[in-house]
Amino acid sequence: MYSFFDIHSHFNLESFDADLEASCKLLKERNIGTICVGVDEKSSQRALDISQKYDNVFACIGVHPQEAHQKEYFDTQYFDKLVESSQVVAVGECGLDYFRIDPNDSVGKNHQKKIFTEQIMYAAQHKLPLMLHIRPSFNTYDAYYEVLEILEESKKQFPNLKGNAHFFVGTKEIAQRFIGLGFTVSFTGVITITDEYDEVVRSTPLESMMAETDAPFVAPKPYRGKRCEPWMVEEVYIKIARLKNISVEELVRIFEKNRTHMFFDPES
Ligand SMILES: [Zn+2]
Repeated sequence: MYSFFDIHSHFNLESFDADLEASCKLLKERNIGTICVGVDEKSSQRALDISQKYDNVFACIGVHPQEAHQKEYFDTQYFDKLVESSQVVAVGECGLDYFRIDPNDSVGKNHQKKIFTEQIMYAAQHKLPLMLHIRPSFNTYDAYYEVLEILEESKKQFPNLKGNAHFFVGTKEIAQRFIGLGFTVSFTGVITITDEYDEVVRSTPLESMMAETDAPFVAPKPYRGKRCEPWMVEEVYIKIARLKNISVEELVRIFEKNRTHMFFDPES
C-alpha cells in the first residue's frame, strides 16, 4: 500500500526533463504512487516509458482536448502500440476544453467532441477507464453539461464505461451526475488555496472521490509558486480529511480502495 497516491500528474512534460530521475526517486522513497498522464501521442509514449522504469508510476494515454485541433482523428494505430502494456491504466486526458476557444467556434467544439468520442470508444474497447479533462468557458459550466450528455449517451452503448473527472471545479450537482454514471471526481491543490470548493468536497461521498496534483501545475498552498510535484498530494489529502472530519490515515485507506477500483481492477 502506498503512503499517498496522486492519480493525475505529468512527469512526461518538459518541466521535469532536467531532474526527472531525482523527482521519480524522491517519490519512490516516500512510497507515493502516481499516474503519469499523456496529452498527445508523444507525451503518452513518454508516460509509458517513465512508467516502465519506475514501478510506482503508471501511465494514462490519450489526446487532450486542447490538442484536438491538431488531429484529424484519434490515431488508434499509434495508441495500439502502447495500450497493451500493463502499466497503462486509463485513456486520456480527454474531454472538452471551452476555456480557450471562441464561444462561437462550433466547428472547433464539434471537433473536440469527435476526438473525445473516439477516445470513449477506445477506452470501452480496451476496458480502460477515462481520465476526463473538462474546462468550461469563463463563468459557466457548459463543458461539464456537454460531457455529461455525451457520457449518458455512451453508457447506453457501453454500460461498463467508467472514469474520473480530473481537476474537478464543478458544482455539487454536477459531481452527483458523474457519480450517478459510475464516475468519480478528483480534486487538486486548488482546494488548499481557496475554500470555494469546500462545499463540493463536503457533499461528495468519499467513495466517489480521489486526490491529485496535476503536477507541474498548481502547487498546494504551502508550496505556492514552486513547481508542483506528485508528493505534494499529501496537502490535498490533509484538506479533504479536514473537510470530511476523518483522519488522514483513514482517508489514505479509502482513496487506496478507490484508485484500485477505478484504475487497477478492470473487473470491478
Ligand atoms: Zn493534466
